[in-house]
Amino acid sequence: MSTSSEPSTTRIPLCEPEISGSEWTYVRECLDSGWVSSVGRFVTRFEELFAARLRAPGAVAVASGTAALHLALLASGVEPGDEVLLPALTFIAPANAVRYVGAWPRFIDVEPSHWQLDPECVRRFIERDCAWEDGTLVVRSTGRRLRAILPVHILGHPVDMDPLLELTRRFGLVVIEDATESLGATYRGRPVGRIGDIACFSFNGNKLMTTGGGGMIVSDRPDWLDRARYLSTQARDDTLEYVHGAIGYNYRLTNVQAAIGCAQLERIDEFLERKREIARCYADGLAHMKGLTPLGEAPWARSAFWLYTVRIDEAYSGRSSRGLIAELARHGIEARPLWQPLDLSVPHRSSAASCPIALDAHRSGVSLPSSVGLSPTDQARVIDVVRAWMHSAASSN
Ligand SMILES: *Cc1c(COP(=O)(O)O)cnc(C)c1O
Repeated sequence: MSTSSEPSTTRIPLCEPEISGSEWTYVRECLDSGWVSSVGRFVTRFEELFAARLRAPGAVAVASGTAALHLALLASGVEPGDEVLLPALTFIAPANAVRYVGAWPRFIDVEPSHWQLDPECVRRFIERDCAWEDGTLVVRSTGRRLRAILPVHILGHPVDMDPLLELTRRFGLVVIEDATESLGATYRGRPVGRIGDIACFSFNGNKLMTTGGGGMIVSDRPDWLDRARYLSTQARDDTLEYVHGAIGYNYRLTNVQAAIGCAQLERIDEFLERKREIARCYADGLAHMKGLTPLGEAPWARSAFWLYTVRIDEAYSGRSSRGLIAELARHGIEARPLWQPLDLSVPHRSSAASCPIALDAHRSGVSLPSSVGLSPTDQARVIDVVRAWMHSAASSN
């Protein structure tokens, strides 16, 4: 929290970690004991605590959320030449992970209310553009097997999962949840990351909780978790004799990082409560403004409100999202647009895709400062700047 006597000049970051619990104590314990690397009591404890929190039978701690996605794809049987459905609107990591395993991302548009993967677009794609060939679901235009769907719960809000699950059961697809932005959210009472077949979390510095860098894989399938753990530590069959049974990776989380994770996990309910308070305060402070709509929460969702995001309707308000971001920056406040739709990105460009809602979200979305430690004074400052700027537009029209 800021204690500066000149609050109007302090910088307000988008999303900073909150490190004020037992982190020092646990890290010091690692350093004093010499257990700093990938073996040590904190790695196992972090996995156990995380799995218990999500009521999962097990969890595998890895070096990043991206590594978690890579291993989840491998463990769940996605193979080179397969296709995987994912939303056009997301951070690029899940699309990259699909390419790491030699498979191909197929981008699907998001729905207009919460900008999450649209189950209706998924259904349309499968029914119109795929066909059964010798018992395999194949994408007609490419002839590739459609193997999995990778819903990404973006910005803290869950994807509408039930209609997706109905489709994946009907068509025999694996569901890999990217829950990296939405730890703590629930969908119809079910925790995000416990709905599909396997799920990935991230503990990067800007996520709800952090280990500096890190990730976690959770699943009900013990064989998949075993496979992921095996691949994360160089696929050792015999550690003494250096015998390896596959091409593995050096993806294990270190004990020092896990120590930070254990300390962060102790406070996660507090973090979530703060995120919801911040969301409530923005919803009140930014209510009834012409051309500005908060993304909000679906009736069936409990959002983790990782990044509080609003939509700026330029045609209606005469104000652009980029203009608002620049105005906030002028006041030392960090705000950000949403990602370029991945079907337009250089590494994943594909001619066929057209995702107009994702493009609209990229053009109109603005994420506002959402750090757990955001002080009420600083948040009031953000709200004042947004209101003043939107109003000045209204009066200049
Ligand atoms: C943060 C993030 C990741 C990757 O996490 P890292 O720990 O940074 O590798 C993956 N997917 C999404 C949607 C993310 O926001």
